[in-house]
Amino acid sequence: MKVILIISDGIADQPIKELGGKTPLQMANKPAMDEIARTGVNGIMDPIAPGITPGSDTAHLAILGYDPYKKYEGRGAFEALGAGLEVKTKDICFRGNIATVDNKFTVLDRRAGRIRDDAEELVEAVSRIKLNFFPDIQVVIKHTIEHRCAIVLKGPHLTRMISDTDPHKSNHQINESQPLNDSSEALRTTHIVNLLTREIHRILDTHPINMKRRAKGLLPANAILMRGAGVVPKVRPITDIYGIKALAIAAGALYKGVCKSVGMDLINVQGATGDYETNTIAKAKAAVENLPRYDFILIHIKATDNASHDMDVKKKIKMIEKVDKLVKYILQNTDPDKVIIAMTADHTTSTESGEHTGDSVPVSIRGKTVRVDSVQRYSEIDCAQGGLGRIRGVNLLPILLDYAGKSKKFGE
Ligand code: ZN
Ligand code: ZN
Repeated sequence: MKVILIISDGIADQPIKELGGKTPLQMANKPAMDEIARTGVNGIMDPIAPGITPGSDTAHLAILGYDPYKKYEGRGAFEALGAGLEVKTKDICFRGNIATVDNKFTVLDRRAGRIRDDAEELVEAVSRIKLNFFPDIQVVIKHTIEHRCAIVLKGPHLTRMISDTDPHKSNHQINESQPLNDSSEALRTTHIVNLLTREIHRILDTHPINMKRRAKGLLPANAILMRGAGVVPKVRPITDIYGIKALAIAAGALYKGVCKSVGMDLINVQGATGDYETNTIAKAKAAVENLPRYDFILIHIKATDNASHDMDVKKKIKMIEKVDKLVKYILQNTDPDKVIIAMTADHTTSTESGEHTGDSVPVSIRGKTVRVDSVQRYSEIDCAQGGLGRIRGVNLLPILLDYAGKSKKFGE
């Protein structure tokens, strides 16, 4: 049997006042998700541990079976791998935001007005930037989606133990990166990052595209904010541990990168954008088409989380209903005797606060080998009544593979 796992980023929520204390999952019209809950086993899951607020990266590592406290080495490498950059073990990687700064380096907009069209060309202009003071350092920068990019530093004596240049809010100056320990590598890496930040600004500020943007009244995209310094985690691939072929269908670079770092294959699906416009049906089709070649397929949908960060309840409900269409397609186009279908979230994102929280998330699993409990609907509240009880993120994949008949017996 095969497994399809659908992760809707931050789909779980807290009670919302304008919904009379209900969650968006309780209020959305989502017949396919409810069918999975009704015909399967349900539970709640602490992605990392009870009360721990997960980032998407640590949560995904956990859901793929790795203890993030032991294996997580910063977000940067996931962004770089997901962007399709080649990353070696000692390379230091960052997530970058294309941003707008004034001439005193104060961040006016962390996303350069949510830049889209010009972003790729501007990043291209600094993609192979040289630093005269550090001839042994190679810099590679690649645009991913919207205002996002990935940065890789290659060369000797580098470390990820440095702080972000991203101030994480507007109207603050770009931070000088600081060493996080007293090694000479940390000091050297901060010098490189701070110089790189100034060089990027020098090139972008006078770039013809930014001249045009200013003339059109748009914010110039004249800086790159760096955060999440990281290296590729040292893990045994998921394919070795469980003896499976695994595929990830995701648009966001971070998610692609996490999956790639644990040995999963990736495919790009046309129309999968990682935002509200994403084509969820195209993703569902890609999963069904690839099912003959894989034992485990993970489908990730990002925009449920975006809606919560944007604190937009209506959009979140709409996005849940859009994900439901994906679930419906998978239900209708797979054989229940041959495929285990599971749904969950990587964490709760509160639409009232716009932040991730440490709440548990709902899990529903259905398939021929799965005991059916009495839960009727897919939600944080309903699933808590189910037969799966309360599990942790690292438990999920073994449970799914056991249902699929792919687990090895422990003992005789
Ligand atoms: Zn997430
Ligand atoms: Zn989020």
